[in-house]
Amino acid sequence: RQAKRDNRFAVAYSQGMDEQYLRRLQIVQALPSAVREHRLQLHFQPKLSCQSGQVIGVEALLRWRDEQLGVVRPDEFIPLAEQTGEIQRITRWVCAAALDQLQLWHEQGFDLTLAINLSALDLQWPELVEFVTTATHQRGLSPASITLEVTESAVMVDPEQAILRLQELREAGFKIAIDDYGTGYASLAQLKRLPADELKLDRSFIQNIATTPEDETIVRSTILLAHDLNLTTVAEGIEEDAAWQVLKRLGCDLVQGYYFSRPLAAAQFERWWRDYHGENSNA
Ligand code: C2E
Ligand code: MG
Ligand code: MG
Ligand code: MG
Repeated sequence: RQAKRDNRFAVAYSQGMDEQYLRRLQIVQALPSAVREHRLQLHFQPKLSCQSGQVIGVEALLRWRDEQLGVVRPDEFIPLAEQTGEIQRITRWVCAAALDQLQLWHEQGFDLTLAINLSALDLQWPELVEFVTTATHQRGLSPASITLEVTESAVMVDPEQAILRLQELREAGFKIAIDDYGTGYASLAQLKRLPADELKLDRSFIQNIATTPEDETIVRSTILLAHDLNLTTVAEGIEEDAAWQVLKRLGCDLVQGYYFSRPLAAAQFERWWRDYHGENSNA
């Protein structure tokens, strides 16, 4: 009987593997036309001043809903796009679409900065700097209003190459953020060498910060360290007021999270901004 059960488990397990494999295969096949036909979408999540609660900018986040596959999360398709080389086309589309939106917002009087996520592979693309610089200037935007986010682990793939590329981007006037900080095993010596302006504390340290003293300790010392290195600190993944209050007390600079807003399509974001703004000025 035991053998039979084990066998059934083995079959279920391998079917699960097949399903996963099949989905990955379908994603790889469907992605290129989704990119070409502009069926990817950008959503925008506000970044706010931690102390004042004022909205200072947005982070652009990719969304993809495919007819057959349903919602495909960026965590699922970005790694595959890196493997197939599709990532470069995706990055170009994301930059163009996000910068178009920022240009529109600036014309409409929304005083916002923009953050764009780059993948590890983008840092190995020699024309990256020229591409984003041209795309930014073409729209009459200043690189100073644009932050390029790279994850700590992306930097660690090839730190020497990453440092060079990030330096070029900074020399062109862009701001650099180290994303998901605390999960990628960069040593303090490496952190000191990174040409960065902003450190985004991974949400795994933030989510339970109000109830877990160890998380508060880690975040407190990371904020002190970041400030010593002249880095702006951003806490991501704030889901409740209690977490925000702790971060205010710890002197964090910027905050992001569902507590303020989920990532929203551009028109929805504008509505959210007006509501939030109105509420704040009445308070
Ligand atoms: P990320 O850059 O660290 O983005 C933050 C992620 O946390 C987003 O997930 C966002 O929706 C989510 N988030 C924000 N606030 C909260 C919160 O309060 N609670 C929780 N539980 N989650 C929150 P998303 O949009 O699924 O993106 C996942 C990752 O995919 C991003 O992590 C980024 O690494 C990557 N990604 C997204 N868009 C792009 C893109 O245009 N290009 C590249 N290369 N990567 C992207
Ligand atoms: Mg990010
Ligand atoms: Mg992050
Ligand atoms: Mg992330």
